[in-house]
Amino acid sequence: MKVSQLLKEDKVTISCELFPPKQGAQLENYKAIVAKTAELKPAYISCTYGATGGTSDYTVEIADAINAHGVPAIAHLTCASSTKEKVSSVITQLKERNIENILALRGDIPETVDFPLPNQYHHAVELIAHIKSMGDFCIGGACYPEGHPEAKNMDEDLGYLKEKVDAGCEYLTTQMFFDNNIYYNFMYKALKKNIDVPVVAGIMPVTNASQIKRIISLSGNLVPSKFLNIVDRFGDNPDAMKQAGIAYATEQIIDLVANGANHIHIYSMNKPDVAGAIMDNLSHIYVR
Ligand code: FAD
Repeated sequence: MKVSQLLKEDKVTISCELFPPKQGAQLENYKAIVAKTAELKPAYISCTYGATGGTSDYTVEIADAINAHGVPAIAHLTCASSTKEKVSSVITQLKERNIENILALRGDIPETVDFPLPNQYHHAVELIAHIKSMGDFCIGGACYPEGHPEAKNMDEDLGYLKEKVDAGCEYLTTQMFFDNNIYYNFMYKALKKNIDVPVVAGIMPVTNASQIKRIISLSGNLVPSKFLNIVDRFGDNPDAMKQAGIAYATEQIIDLVANGANHIHIYSMNKPDVAGAIMDNLSHIYVR
């Protein structure tokens, strides 16, 4: 099923995200994570491409496994460190396996090659056009409520985001944020640029203290003092930190839905227990 169809309905959706294993030997164990995540009955499950140390080679296979559990799969696809030939081959594999949803991303610029390579991709917008030319896929894209770290300013970033939507992006998923006001401000600015596709709010449940330090150093996310106090108080107690992280993410989601943001993506990071605990907390809000 196309995710764009799900997002058109006037219903709350909660989706989850997985990242592929680092090695093929881990693939069988990994499929148990896919099964446990699918049992939660999220609206859809996405699988990253070469992010968080996972191997992009398995993204297609994992998306296929997700679909086999009866849950719509989104395969992420990045282009910055790829050639058009390699990307065409992945799109062909996705088509052969009836994977209808692709999240089209530039990916991080590789440090080891000159970027961009001649006649290759510069930005996600080119990948979106490439995917569109190869079939009837539902294409999504990434957006950044705090601005993409490389963008000069939010206005410029939103201008490029509008180009992605015009090129064929049917929905957007946000980078994680820890203060919902950042999302609400972003939505206001996006609407002023006539970006009118569904914007799925990306929520990261932070369940250990080192995770939040890594997030801040990598993405420079603004973390409210309310959350930092939680890390200060519970960071040394793993069980308490996990419980507090799940409660914080739950509270963020309730506030988002109460304010009309119906579509939530949990960056569940291969932890079905964490996603499951959040979904149990929301059992009358997201009815499975
Ligand atoms: P783009 O949309 O190309 O934007 C990148 C930068 O270029 C921005 O600063 C933008 O303002 C600017 N820009 C865009 N278009 C133009 C243009 N035409 N001319 C000039 N400047 C332009 N990474 C992975 O490796 N694998 C994943 O699976 C993955 N999944 C992600 C999922 C989500 C929901 C999000 C939010 C991010 C994900 N990422 C993933 C990270 C992402 O690849 C990086 O953030 C990357 O740096 C930017 O990707 P993008 O698709 O947003 O790029």
